[in-house]
Amino acid sequence: MSIAENIETIKSNIITAAKECGRDPEDIQLVAVSKRFPVSAIEEAITCGHKVFGENYIQEAEEKYKTVGGKCHLHFIGHLQSNKAKIAARIFDVIETVDSLKLAKALNRHLEPLNRTIDILLQVNIGHDDAKSGVNPEAAEEILRELNLLSNIRVIGLMTMPPFTDDPELARPHFRELRLLADQLNQKDLFPQTNKVELSMGMSNDYHIAIQEGATIIRVGTAIFGHRL
Ligand SMILES: *Cc1c(COP(=O)(O)O)cnc(C)c1O
Repeated sequence: MSIAENIETIKSNIITAAKECGRDPEDIQLVAVSKRFPVSAIEEAITCGHKVFGENYIQEAEEKYKTVGGKCHLHFIGHLQSNKAKIAARIFDVIETVDSLKLAKALNRHLEPLNRTIDILLQVNIGHDDAKSGVNPEAAEEILRELNLLSNIRVIGLMTMPPFTDDPELARPHFRELRLLADQLNQKDLFPQTNKVELSMGMSNDYHIAIQEGATIIRVGTAIFGHRL
């Protein structure tokens, strides 16, 4: 299967999954995760009309940005260290994995002189999984209050990555909890900079479940580009 065919398949799966649970498919954005695939793979996807890509590694993304920077939107979805915030501030349109106030402040500081404001998601470690980044759900409210004070970032929602398992059903409670948390925070008016609170959750093997649980952004790599080396 070609990249174009895979994207078409996923888009039609998104429509099916959304309709099955009474959602508008237009509310679900597909981020094509191109990490560890060459820039030619991104260009192939751009050629067939896809524009939003996810990258995990700053150096790799910076290299790709030189070729495709003006032609697509890049989401950062990896673990971001504050000392890489300067590069990230320049090349990414959305940073999905903000997991500390320190990182957010570093991004804000580097965005200011660039005259840029970018969207970010707060990464939440729903499962309190030691192997995963993200703030604990209990800490989300306090950190959001601080993030909302930073002038060059716009907090548009939450992101999570459940513990890895072979059984996608095991991810469902994590997705559900992220949505409930976002609802609670939204009721307290903690997303004042957006009227659509985004939930980034779901990958190749569980995005249909994430959609059932309210995902508005899904991050799909393998099912589009194939297995990474
Ligand atoms: C790699 C990655 C993905 C894509 O995973 P696939 O299983 O290849 O679809 C999604 N989200 C994050 C945070 C990732 O690191």
